[in-house]
Amino acid sequence: MKLRTTLLLLALAACRAAEPAPAPLDAEPVCASSRIERPSARNDMIVVCGERIPIGVPVVLWTERDGYDAYSTELRFPGEPPKERPAGLRYQPGRKVAKDDGTTRLSSLSGTPACGAELRAALDQFVIHYDVCGTSRQCFKILHDRRKLSVHFLLDVDGTLYQTLDLSDTAWHARQANSRSVGIEIANIGAYKPGDTTLDEWYPHDGEGPYVRFPAWMKETGIRTSGFVARPARAERVTGAIHGTTYEMHDLTPQQYATLVKLAAGLCRAFPTLRPDCPRDAQGAVRMDALTDAEFAQFRGILGHFHITKDKQDPGPAFDWERFLAALRAELAKPAP
Ligand SMILES: [Zn+2]
Repeated sequence: MKLRTTLLLLALAACRAAEPAPAPLDAEPVCASSRIERPSARNDMIVVCGERIPIGVPVVLWTERDGYDAYSTELRFPGEPPKERPAGLRYQPGRKVAKDDGTTRLSSLSGTPACGAELRAALDQFVIHYDVCGTSRQCFKILHDRRKLSVHFLLDVDGTLYQTLDLSDTAWHARQANSRSVGIEIANIGAYKPGDTTLDEWYPHDGEGPYVRFPAWMKETGIRTSGFVARPARAERVTGAIHGTTYEMHDLTPQQYATLVKLAAGLCRAFPTLRPDCPRDAQGAVRMDALTDAEFAQFRGILGHFHITKDKQDPGPAFDWERFLAALRAELAKPAP
């Protein structure tokens, strides 16, 4: 691992020395926002076991003023409070790791010398979601301030990547995949059955094609690129079946694909059991349905939320798996950043 900082290790050691492992779910988070030193320049690294790993694109960490901190038990947007204020942690400290007898135990991981090795043994899936919120700001408000959930990464329409938790901690984003996965919520309003008017409202057209028009009630989008206009990577709406039901959706933005490729390459390099491929059928086509329990247990790689459960359609029919995976393989053929 590169660029380990003495300051960071000292901070982590101080954090973890006082921490009984693992913390109960209703406990206060330990050393939440103080774990990582604040970067003085643009950060292009994700945080794994307290160490920084460069991925070649900017990353807004949870410790930054404009970041999203999944360790916090406070409301991220106190000026927009929910009817019922959630309490307690929104994530599980540590990861489930395998024991020699085949059962699992919860390990606090972070700050321990074995963190990297234990995490590499425990983590073999990358789960892709769309957020049905449209922006990362809105997504974090719903996940953290309302639903008491979490996800490691948020990817906004302009390609801005936010990390909300160290990967050594378990985010609550995909039930049975939580303990073995990294999750990302990609800003996109999602997929709808034909005849639904949501996409008409969100995607008007101008001379250059469709673009995202955020609803008036969303007073702040939180998008960091000033004046950014979010346009789908493909102008046409994409229609496709998931779990045998037809949905329509607009594609992600090119900026989102570009960042996602860089992040996925960083994850595949850091976690060698995480294969740069998705579930495929016997003919080699991308699966558009849920895996069986046995298939899910065996699968090590990148998958959509719909591959995990029949209840979900994300990342939807417009997510271009082959474009993404081809770019990922090309990125992995280059030297690491
Ligand atoms: Zn999802």
